[in-house]
Amino acid sequence: MRPSNQAVKNPAAQARQLAGVTALIRERTAGNKSTLAIFDLDGTLFDNRTRTIFILREISEKFCEKVPQLSRAFETFQALSIVDYSLDVTLGRMGVKHPAETAFIKQEWAKRFFSDEYQKYDMPILGAKAYVDSVHKAGATVIYLTGRDVGRMLVGTTEVLRLYGFPVGVAGTMTIVKKEFEQDDELFKKEVSEYIDRLGEVVAVFENEPANSNILQARFPQAASFFVLTQHRPDAPALNRGIRKIKDFRLK
Ligand SMILES: [Mg+2]
Repeated sequence: MRPSNQAVKNPAAQARQLAGVTALIRERTAGNKSTLAIFDLDGTLFDNRTRTIFILREISEKFCEKVPQLSRAFETFQALSIVDYSLDVTLGRMGVKHPAETAFIKQEWAKRFFSDEYQKYDMPILGAKAYVDSVHKAGATVIYLTGRDVGRMLVGTTEVLRLYGFPVGVAGTMTIVKKEFEQDDELFKKEVSEYIDRLGEVVAVFENEPANSNILQARFPQAASFFVLTQHRPDAPALNRGIRKIKDFRLK
């Protein structure tokens, strides 16, 4: 069954469309055909807000003299919803207003956030592990396509995928990261998609950034294109028609 080309309006529709992808993969595999499913990581398979909170907590303890406003915020910290896409907004919500303190926190946060060591504090999106597993077992090659970079984040990326039980490093999987951190995310995904196109039939694409979602949908118009409703850039373009919105990866 080919998944229908409609937006997801309720959990049952989400489940049906996600299951439609695995059914199509099984069909192709039975016909000895190669299929590919592309998954972004940050904001798609993983919720990064936990990584940020863990890092801010660490900064507040390690440098408590230098970050009094942040330290105070943790006396009453209650919910992850305080974490915004923008660290500036998050710090503002936490009552960190002093420019020197903000600048110091941002510098320490970036050192940690973009590093191998802290990725294990990400939290998988609900149902993500089971769904990626089902796509892999159905016979598709699972491609983790992420804007993280080789030098600072590949080891941590592999480690965290393994830690949470995602298929990684084995036949039928591929991890594609950026060579250089400075590379533009959208340009990177555009260029890589040309390579992926030569490997086989892309049946599904999962993203949380509207710009990337639009680029990949245009590149792979036959694939089911899914947009995960987590966090994304505030200045993002509108999502193109035909891209299905999903809350998470649960099938019931
Ligand atoms: Mg992302």
